[in-house]
Order: sequence, then structure tokens, then C-alpha cells
Amino acid sequence: MTDANATSGKHPPDHGKPGDLKTLLIARARRARRFPTRLRAATAPHGIVLLYHRIAEPSADPWDLSVSPENFAQQLEVLRRFGACKTFTDLADTLAGPAPPKRSVAVTFDDGYLDNMAAGLPALKAAGVPATIFVATGTIGAAREFWWDALVRIFLTGAPLPPTLTLDIGGARREWAIPDAPAQSYDAWKMPRRPPRDPRLLAFTEVWRALLMADNDDSMRAIDALAAWAGLPPLGDPADHPMNRAELDELAACDLIEIGAHTVWHPPLDMIPPDQAAREITQSRADLEGWLGRPVTSFAYPFGKYDRNVLEHTQAAGLRCACTVYEDIATTRSDPFQIPRIHVKNWPGDMFEAMLREFTGP
Ligand SMILES: [Zn+2]
Repeated sequence: MTDANATSGKHPPDHGKPGDLKTLLIARARRARRFPTRLRAATAPHGIVLLYHRIAEPSADPWDLSVSPENFAQQLEVLRRFGACKTFTDLADTLAGPAPPKRSVAVTFDDGYLDNMAAGLPALKAAGVPATIFVATGTIGAAREFWWDALVRIFLTGAPLPPTLTLDIGGARREWAIPDAPAQSYDAWKMPRRPPRDPRLLAFTEVWRALLMADNDDSMRAIDALAAWAGLPPLGDPADHPMNRAELDELAACDLIEIGAHTVWHPPLDMIPPDQAAREITQSRADLEGWLGRPVTSFAYPFGKYDRNVLEHTQAAGLRCACTVYEDIATTRSDPFQIPRIHVKNWPGDMFEAMLREFTGP
């Protein structure tokens, strides 16, 4: 997943109700801000790399990770007209090569959700659009949700919660008071930049930040404890899980699909010791090459987080290219290990195309 609020100042905006004055003014300001990008897109070969996570319709989606199957099909139709669709590595190679086309487009998915295979693959095949799936190998076959999705299920989908929460994470005990937590869902709520006032939402954001820094065993223990506290099952709906090995094999067998690495356990690589970061990168690539029997050449930084050390480790691991969550077009001058991506939200085709045009012009 990505924590776009924390890592990118250029998160694509929500397209509000068309016609309302505030929406029109925001849209105009946004178009003005992207003018230099459109100028580059008009005058030089460029690539558009799109960031997806899920093809699904969860009730709560605080980071806009999901696109519905219907909207995804519409978006793919737009893309087929928009540029030469390639895998991420092909796009990076093309931009670095002698004769890049005017515009290349790459669809990428982060994390390795089951729905990428179950819902994404049929749509990609029907449209003939390639895609790159970045997989966190430790979660493949784990038969449980990613920890951030478990938090959403526990805190944001309407379960009545006890009034106090005590949680041990990484040897530290934390407590939260959640008085009168109403049994309501938070379907439209989005992760804010500032701490929310609602005690339930505040506890959610603070547990999220604590788990971001926890190792995988601590995260799983914390999720088990939270589910027990909320009176919910620990594992969640299998449709929300990452793929298992057989499902990954089925996805990888399609010649439209590139599989890229996304670490083993999905830590923020710039916040863990450098030797551990190096192991996360090399091991995830080795896992995938061992499982799939083919070279793995691309990488995506979990949460979009990296620093100079991480860049060096990624290059030293023998990978050819890597992508960030910084929102921009890629050009022939882009560092192949820092290729920007545009986060796609659950937009119908026309809104999706309008968003792309903000970056590329007509
Ligand atoms: Zn991720």
C-alpha cells in the first residue's frame, strides 16, 4: 500500500460534484499547478505510470486503494486510446532507449491482492492491456488480511467497540479511550493529514502509525488482540486477502503480466536498519524468481518510502527499475529507480481521462 498523504504532496484530488463553485475553483487551481507538467508532456516523449492496489468495492477505503470492476473496465478503455500500454519494466526500458514513443502507459498494482487475479486479470485480458503486479512475498499464502485492512475492518466498518483499548506493540503498552463509540460505519472517511477529533478515528490512525513501525510478528499479534477486543474474527474475508502461490502462478502465467518485487513484509524501507532493508529487497526478488522461474527486474517501494541507502540497495540487488508514489509523468530524464506514478482512484472513465489530461494536456 501507499501512505500518499505522508509521502506525496501531489496526491490526485477528489473530483467533487461538478458545477459547484468551490469544485470549479479547485479544478482550475489544479490545472494551473500542472501546467509545467503538461508543457513537458507536449514537447517530449513521456510515460504515464498508474498506481492501483485493488479491484474491489470495500465499504470503507480510507486511502482510496480500490477501484470498482466497472470503473476499472472503463479506465482500461481510456488507456487503450491514450498511449502505448506496456509493463513497467518495458516502459522504463523504452524511456531509457534510443527512440521512445511519444507516450507510453503502464498499469501497476501494489501488494499482491487476490482480486488482482480474480477481477483485475479478466479485465486486463479483455482489454489487452499489460500490467505489472508488485508483490510483498511474505504475505503470499498468509491467508490473512494485510494489517492495514484488518484495522479498517475493526475500526471503520461499524462494529460496536468496547470503551477502552489497551494494546502491546513491540514491547510498549498503549491505551486509548473510545467513549460512546457509535456503531456506525465510516464509509466515506479518508485518512487525514492531521489527527482526527473522533476518538475512534484517532485510535485508528495512532494504531496504524504504531504498526507501521512494528515488525510482522508484532503486527499479527496486535491484529489478533484487536480482533479479540472487538469481538471479531481475526482473519477477515478471504476475498480481501493477498494471493496464495497457486493464484500468483495463475496471474504470472498470463503473458500480459509482469511480476515485480515489493519486499517480503512491506516495511517502510527508510525507517528500518539498512541491512534489514537490503535483505527485504534481495529476498523478495529471490523469492519471486525461485517461485516463477523467470527474472524479476522491477521494484516498488512500500508506502513509497525510500532514501539514498534504499536506492543503492535496490540497484545493487540487480533490479533494473523501481517506482515511487511521487505524482508526475516520467520522462527520458527520469531516474529509472525513481519513476513517478499517478495514484488512480475509483473514477469512472470520463473523470479518469480528465485526471490524465491534467498531466498530459489534450
Ligand atoms: Zn504496498
